Amino acid sequence: MSKNVVIIGAGVAGVNAATKLIDNQFDGQITIIDMGKDPYERKYSEVMEGFLGAGGWSDGKLTYSTQIGGQLSKYVGDEKAMELMKQVVDNFTRFHPHPEQIVLSSPEEEPEFIKPYFGLRLFPCWHIGTDYLHEIGKNWYNFLVDNGVEFHWETKVSDIDFNEKLISAKNDLGELWLNYDRLIFGVGKSGIDFGKQLAEKYELPTKPKSVQIGVRFEAPQKHFQKLIDVSYDFKLYRKFEDKGVSLRSFCTNNNAAYVAVEETYGDHSYNGHAKKDEAYRNNMTNFGILMEIQGISYPFNFSRSVVSNINEISKDGTGVYYSPSRKPSTTSEGVDVSTIQIDQDDLRQVREEFGGYFKYIDDFIDDMKKVFPTLKDDWGIYIPEVKYLSPEPLVNYNNLSLTKYENVYFVGDALSARGITVSGAHGIYVAENINK
Ligand SMILES: Cc1cc2nc3c(=O)[nH]c(=O)nc-3n(C[C@H](O)[C@H](O)[C@H](O)COP(=O)(O)OP(=O)(O)OC[C@H]3O[C@@H](n4cnc5c(N)ncnc54)[C@H](O)[C@@H]3O)c2cc1C
Repeated sequence: MSKNVVIIGAGVAGVNAATKLIDNQFDGQITIIDMGKDPYERKYSEVMEGFLGAGGWSDGKLTYSTQIGGQLSKYVGDEKAMELMKQVVDNFTRFHPHPEQIVLSSPEEEPEFIKPYFGLRLFPCWHIGTDYLHEIGKNWYNFLVDNGVEFHWETKVSDIDFNEKLISAKNDLGELWLNYDRLIFGVGKSGIDFGKQLAEKYELPTKPKSVQIGVRFEAPQKHFQKLIDVSYDFKLYRKFEDKGVSLRSFCTNNNAAYVAVEETYGDHSYNGHAKKDEAYRNNMTNFGILMEIQGISYPFNFSRSVVSNINEISKDGTGVYYSPSRKPSTTSEGVDVSTIQIDQDDLRQVREEFGGYFKYIDDFIDDMKKVFPTLKDDWGIYIPEVKYLSPEPLVNYNNLSLTKYENVYFVGDALSARGITVSGAHGIYVAENINK
């Protein structure tokens, strides 16, 4: 019998899994452990931890495509992947206080003016807005509590005995041990080290991943308006197959767009989020320019060392900002974004840290200046933006359980997802199979 499901991580994947279990009348106990706080207590500055995880304080763009956000079709096929992602969108809609305010952008054709330089990925995207995510979080949390889910907040899991089915965790009250029949492991990016530690301890077979690194680009929105009118969360891309490098603009924020600092392994990198409330409008656009680099022998170590060396360039334990004409922005709370502005000389050092790959970013920006002629020098970059992809543990495709431990399921960013809909879909897929 599998009556006791424990979920580590109250992030997008874990919460969607619990919701699906409830919706399918799962009659066992569901327990969720998270090192962050519940949605009533979680602060704006706690970007990665707490209810809905990184997704709870993200800009809430729900992309609907099997081409982005990590591999889902690989496990479940295209049709099922789309169905699962739609369930995630439906969950966000269901707990939204004003679902009618969700904006859908669905471009259908690549505009001519970008064609000589870039391709544009075409897919639907629902835009929720960071501020509404907080309200969604509270409604969603109440639903889970009302349906008997037990939460352990501010409780960090430090070890798992897969053989004894025993979790060790710590919180302010001391140590905690919990047994499970089935374990859903959804620790996201903030738990990436922990996942790696378990993979090593249990010698889990894994697949190496690519490097995903770049910068967060920021500029006044007016320069990009022509493209934003076609696609709100536009994804420009280009490929250099012979070099094993591809680039894409990633996670575009507009209207009330703010750069966010992510802290992983004590280093700073950048991301972005967008607010929905007109009061926050700053008429800025930000997006990642991310390179996917194949063929680097130790991709994880490479990414970590680039990020950490760039934090050293700042001499302040944070990332750096370069612009030919601008100053760094403030956060939505009016606080300066944590960064140190650098000049051309320091930028040369940044280029070296990227081991020759920065030229692709330089070219990307140069070509954007051609496609968006008013842009000129009116832009800045926050360096670095990174997606740490730890080696992906091998899972059974029919339920995402580990090939070595069939009652342990890896989901979300812990299974190399890179977005809300794919992470949530992992959780739902696992729950559907537990219910079977
Ligand atoms: C600023 C920002 C903006 C983003 N914007 C978007 C966007 O617009 N659209 C999009 O699709 N994606 C976006 N993303 C990515 C998206 O948020 C993630 O892909 C998604 O949240 C991953 O879901 P998850 O459940 O795997 O992990 P998470 O949502 O990160 O949740 C993991 C949870 O596990 C908990 N945890 C970790 N380790 C432990 C431990 N040892 N013990 C207990 N608890 C632990 C954490 O506290 C966290 O709550 C954004 C990310 C960031 C940081």
